[in-house]
Amino acid sequence: MPKTDRWNWYVEEFAPTEQHQHAVSKLFFSGESAFQQIAVLETPVFGKMLVLDGDTQSSQGDEKIYHEALVHPALAAASDRREVLILGGGEGATLREVLRCPDVERVTMVDIDGLVVELSKKYLPEWADGAFENPRSRVIVGDALAFMRESSERFGVIISDLTEPLEDSPSNILFNEEVFALIKARLLEGGVYVLQASTSAFHNASLHAKMARTLRRHYRQVTSFSHHVPAFDTEWAFLACSDRVDVAALDAASIAAYCAKLRGESFFYDEQTHRRLFSLPLYLRRMLAAQGDTFS
Ligand code: SAM
Repeated sequence: MPKTDRWNWYVEEFAPTEQHQHAVSKLFFSGESAFQQIAVLETPVFGKMLVLDGDTQSSQGDEKIYHEALVHPALAAASDRREVLILGGGEGATLREVLRCPDVERVTMVDIDGLVVELSKKYLPEWADGAFENPRSRVIVGDALAFMRESSERFGVIISDLTEPLEDSPSNILFNEEVFALIKARLLEGGVYVLQASTSAFHNASLHAKMARTLRRHYRQVTSFSHHVPAFDTEWAFLACSDRVDVAALDAASIAAYCAKLRGESFFYDEQTHRRLFSLPLYLRRMLAAQGDTFS
């Protein structure tokens, strides 16, 4: 193991009393956009990483776990995959995963921060892997809220790949009843809305449970799923919402048929992984069933 005094450290603070430290082998960029603090760095274990406002967004080593989990269960379950909308998604890896599905005719990505997109193109091209230049991609630099208010388009799948709604984050305005209703209005009848929904680790799942409780007011099916993401150092959770399909109950044959048509090779997602993603521990099922805080 390297001696610790040889390294500079990126310290991710989960809470005032909890931290994860990554040794930094290279710093590509550190600065501030109009919306957030941005760092692109490299660590010996996870490779390159994007960090926004001190939070790890994704790492070269394990971004496929996060992005395949975010995209494929929802796309596999959706009955109409022709038009897909991504809210946020800066690095372009969510775009890349959506484009792997040949049924998708067009995918629109709306990210507020043009600098995150430019830095991702420059330093993290493996994430998008050409997705920004794909003729089926429409990339809009702008506020996702403004896009949804101004657009009358409807989508079979909406994917929210936004930063966590912390107080000073530009995504904070996107977590309230009005916006959840707006998202539903942009969804085709019976379509699927999926979002990255914070950690579901037992000691810190209150934000996840709050999102689930709020979304249950808008959709008949709101299903939590999760997997450990090593660079995040925690179990990471997602929510799949629909009035028509129960993403958790998707049968193995349908998942296999969906996976067979994806272009390129998957790293993480298949029928077995689907079962594992949707098999939740008792404590989490209890938390999700309990009454509590909601977004207003
Ligand atoms: N994997 C991530 C995580 O763990 O939080 C999320 C990935 S992605 C980098 C988050 C993106 O959401 C950022 O690029 C950020 O610019 C974008 N974003 C935040 N607020 C937004 C808003 N109001 N409209 C559009 N994009 C927004």
